[in-house]
Amino acid sequence: MLALSLLLTVCVSLLLNANVRARDQARFNNLVQSTSDRILRRLDTYIALLQGTEGLFATQQEVSPDEFSAFVQLFELQTHYPGIQGLGFSQRLSDEHHSIVLLEPRDSRNQAAMGYDMYSEPNRREAMARARDTGQPALSAKVTLKQEIHERKQAGFLLYLPVYRGGQTPATVEARREALVGFVYSPFRADDLLNGIFGIEHKPRVSFQVYDGTAVAPEHLLHVSHDPEALAREPMFTTTKTLTVAGRSWTLTFASLPSFDETASEFVVVPSLVAGVLVSLAFFFLTRAQVRAREAAERSTDELRVALAERARVEVQLREADRRKDDFLAMLAHELRNPLAPVLTAVQLMERKLQSGLSTEREREVVERQVHHMRRLVDDLLDVSRVTRGKIHLQKRPVELVAAVGRAVESARPFAESREHTLRVELPRGPLWMEADPVRLEQVLSNLLHNAAKYSEPGGRITLTLAREAGEAVVRVADTGMGIPAEALPHLFEPFMQVARTLDQAQGGLGLGLTLVKRLVEMHGGRVEVASEGVGQGSVFSVRLPLLPAERIPAEPEEERLEQDVPEESRRVLVVDDNEDAAEMLGEVLEMDGHRVTVVHDGMAALECLDALQPEVVFLDIGLPGMDGYEVARRIRQRTTGAGLRLVAITGYGQASDRKRSREAGFDAHLVKPVELDAVRALVADLGRLPGQRECTFNVTSG
Ligand code: ADP
Repeated sequence: MLALSLLLTVCVSLLLNANVRARDQARFNNLVQSTSDRILRRLDTYIALLQGTEGLFATQQEVSPDEFSAFVQLFELQTHYPGIQGLGFSQRLSDEHHSIVLLEPRDSRNQAAMGYDMYSEPNRREAMARARDTGQPALSAKVTLKQEIHERKQAGFLLYLPVYRGGQTPATVEARREALVGFVYSPFRADDLLNGIFGIEHKPRVSFQVYDGTAVAPEHLLHVSHDPEALAREPMFTTTKTLTVAGRSWTLTFASLPSFDETASEFVVVPSLVAGVLVSLAFFFLTRAQVRAREAAERSTDELRVALAERARVEVQLREADRRKDDFLAMLAHELRNPLAPVLTAVQLMERKLQSGLSTEREREVVERQVHHMRRLVDDLLDVSRVTRGKIHLQKRPVELVAAVGRAVESARPFAESREHTLRVELPRGPLWMEADPVRLEQVLSNLLHNAAKYSEPGGRITLTLAREAGEAVVRVADTGMGIPAEALPHLFEPFMQVARTLDQAQGGLGLGLTLVKRLVEMHGGRVEVASEGVGQGSVFSVRLPLLPAERIPAEPEEERLEQDVPEESRRVLVVDDNEDAAEMLGEVLEMDGHRVTVVHDGMAALECLDALQPEVVFLDIGLPGMDGYEVARRIRQRTTGAGLRLVAITGYGQASDRKRSREAGFDAHLVKPVELDAVRALVADLGRLPGQRECTFNVTSG
């Protein structure tokens, strides 16, 4: 913008300059012309003076010095013809000799010239010959006058006019030469003449130099109008002009003087340029200030827009976080209320039953199971919080992965089987060692297996693969379940992330399991990834863990720390009860004691697995649906395999008639619900000795 306006200013100034210069040039030219004119006019006047003098000689044969003096005085030379040195007559003595015979005024200078033969000097001779031959006035080249008797000499020249006999100019050159009497002439001191013409100008605006002839050379210099010092400055205008005066050329060089230059272009152009530049600058700064203000406004608008967008983004995030928090609280409430409802019911029931002397074992079990579930939820919550705050410290030691995977599979298997999934495990040939906290490592793996079972429709397939890949151990848990939509994959490991919250609420969960998995795996120096082809396409979770370098693998195989105490004798036990909770609980207790337990829920199933299992003890509920416990007992006893086993009746009825009936059906023992664990343990452990039958109460809440 500034450049443009300055360019414009410069253009305008240049234009103005050109204009002004053209005008100044014209003014200068005028000055030159008027100067030349004044010189020419003055010389013309002198020619006219000579012509008048020539008239004197034409009319008189002899002109005496006094007559001549009187004649010259008429002209008042000093007054009217300033600069003229004198007026004289040079007489022709012969063709080659001439002599100044008359010269007025008779001052000392002119006296010095009297009698001088001007024809003897080439410059004068040339002019005299020219005047003689042409009959015209002739100006001589530069000479030093005879009058220059003083030290300060001036350049001079002479003006001749031929005087012929008879006063007429003969027609031919020969005749002119022949008729020539002499010349009326005027000597001029150049400086005196020209200073006389121009006088002392008040404020001269041009200087000029007059050269004799056409060459501008010092030897031809006739006059310098001004002290050269004044011209030291480069003049704005210069020009050269040739004047022709009485058949001789003078060359005049002109230069403008500072007095002219100052009034010329500078006066206009410089102020106009300065003014233009100032205006441009003012315009520029004004415009720039405006542009800057606009830019600043635009910038702040942009910043505002960015800030608003950022704020909107943060708001969305906050809303999302808020929504997740609300969702989480709702879910937490739901997850906690879920187990609380049966707990509350159980407690109320217990109260009533205690009042009526009934057993509250079932309720206690319910409470225990639900509390256990709640504890898992709270543990997850605490674990995540602890892991996030870096409060979990791993108890690392060399761990063999094949064994660790095996333990995790075993802990997850019951749940997987309860959902009728097939669980396949593919293990590498050799052992894989890593440094890990075995408890946390198994927590990771069982969590993944648990999820695989939880998020697959019953009857799915779960495959766990452990392999060594590129120096790492890789555990893959793949399922054929509901899969994960692509958009959820990147967020799956975030806290409280749940894709299908409504699904399978019965299993519960807070959306923290995978967060925990990820953090724990990372604490082990590994990483976890998830892949899924999409909804309904199953999922694959891969955990990559660093392996222990060969030199750090312990020589002694790791002892199974978690292995439970194996009792002296491990029995094969079959539990038959349609009350699943009761059956599972009993099975679990016995398993914990180291027995191999199979649980079934009806008589037919019991009979079917009898041959395969070869149980040593069977706990058989009497009140089974379809075929009751007595019938099942009878059938077992009829089979050869049933001969040596111990049959224990479990029933809510403990009357003597009931015991009798069970004994008849082939039972070895009769336990009344809720059974006492010690009695159960004793019946299994000591097969040789039957403990006495004990009466217990049992509250049946499920079929
Ligand atoms: P929770 O199971 O308590 O909801 P998790 O952190 O274990 O929390 O899992 C987060 C979510 O990831 C689950 O709610 C579920 O939507 C999804 N998810 C986890 N494992 C699987 C899987 N094997 N198949 C499909 N979805 C899964």
